[in-house]
Amino acid sequence: MITDRVREAAPRLGEVPAYVYDLPALDDHVARVRRALPGVELYYAVKANPDAELLRVLAGHVDGFEVSSAGEHAHVSALFPDRPLALGGPGKTDAELRLPCHRLHVESPNELRRLLATGRAADVLLRLSPDLPVEGAALTMSGPFGMDEEGVRECLPLFGERVRLRGTHTHLASGLEAPQLLRLARTLLDTEHDEVNLGGGMAVSYTSPEDRFDWRAYGIGLGALRREGQRVRVEPGRALTAYCGFYVTRVVDVRRVRGEAYAIVLGGTHHLRTPVTKGHDQPFEVLPTGDGPAVEGAVTMVGQLCTPKDVFARNIATKVRVGDTVVFAMAGAYAWNISHHDFLMHPKPGFHYLG
Ligand SMILES: *Cc1c(COP(=O)(O)O)cnc(C)c1O
Repeated sequence: MITDRVREAAPRLGEVPAYVYDLPALDDHVARVRRALPGVELYYAVKANPDAELLRVLAGHVDGFEVSSAGEHAHVSALFPDRPLALGGPGKTDAELRLPCHRLHVESPNELRRLLATGRAADVLLRLSPDLPVEGAALTMSGPFGMDEEGVRECLPLFGERVRLRGTHTHLASGLEAPQLLRLARTLLDTEHDEVNLGGGMAVSYTSPEDRFDWRAYGIGLGALRREGQRVRVEPGRALTAYCGFYVTRVVDVRRVRGEAYAIVLGGTHHLRTPVTKGHDQPFEVLPTGDGPAVEGAVTMVGQLCTPKDVFARNIATKVRVGDTVVFAMAGAYAWNISHHDFLMHPKPGFHYLG
C-alpha cells in the first residue's frame, strides 16, 4: 500500500502534514496501463488531480488530456501547448465554447446552438446519457450529464462543415470493474460512429488497495469489440493517479473518550477530503517514530478540525503513539484538489515529489 520510497522518506520530512507523491510509481503504473490498451487512445481526466508534476509524468504516456473548465484548459495548455485536449463539462460558458481543442464534448442541443453561434470550427463528440443499466458503481452519473435519444435527434441536423460531428462520448459511472465496463462498451461501440470516447470510471478499491483494475482484461475486451477503423478513447482519472499520492502527518494526541480510542493527527480532512466525501476509511500505515503515550485496539483517526466529521478512518485495529508518523495512502486523486483547505486556517501542507 505504501511504497518503499515513501516509507523511507516520510519520517524524515520535518514539517508535516505534507503530501508526498511517488513519481516513479506513477510512471510505472501509467506505463503498464498504456501497454494494456493497444490501439486505444488514452487521455487523463485532469480533474482527478491537476498537479503539474504528475501531469508531466502522465504526459510521457497518455495521448491527450480531458479538461472540464477554462481553468483546467489554461493550466494544461500552458504546460503542454501541443497536446490534444478534449473539452467537456456540463455547463460551458460561451468563452469556454470558444477555447481551442481537439474534441469538444457537447452536452445538449442548446449548447450545440451556442457553439454554432460562436462561428468557430469544432470537432464534436455528443455526450450521451444512454439508458443502460450500471450495476455496482460507486457513483452513477445520473442527472443532467449528456443527452437522451431525443436530444441526439435534435442535434444531428445542426452539424455541417464548420462544426463537425465526429462521434459519441459517454461517462456513465465511477468505480466500475473491467467486465462491467466491457458490457457497457459492447453497446456503446455498436454504432455507425467512427469515434467513441468511453469515458473513465475504472474502479479503485480503498478497502483492498492491492486489488487493481484489470487493465489487461479491459484492453483485450476492447480490442475484440472495436470495429475495424473505429477510433476508441478512454479518459480515466482516479485509477491513474490515486495510488501515487500520500498524505503524511504526525500524531499530536491520543485519548479515550467513553471507551472509544482516538488518535488526533496534525492537519485533517480539510487537506484530504476523500474519506468524508466517499464515506470510507482512508487506508493508512503507522510508522513508529513516536515515544509518547499510546492507544491500542480499535482506533479512530481524526484531524484538527472542530467538527465530528473530521474523520479519516474509524475503529481500525492498530497501536498509535504520540509522535508516530501516519501515512495515508491512495491520496493521489480527488484528495488535495477537492479539499476545503481554508477551513479553520491551519497551515497548508508541504508538497514533496519523490523521483
Ligand atoms: C470525472 C470524469 C472522468 C474521470 O473519472 P474517474 O472516475 O476519475 O476515472 C472522465 N470523464 C468525465 C467526463 C468525467 O466527468
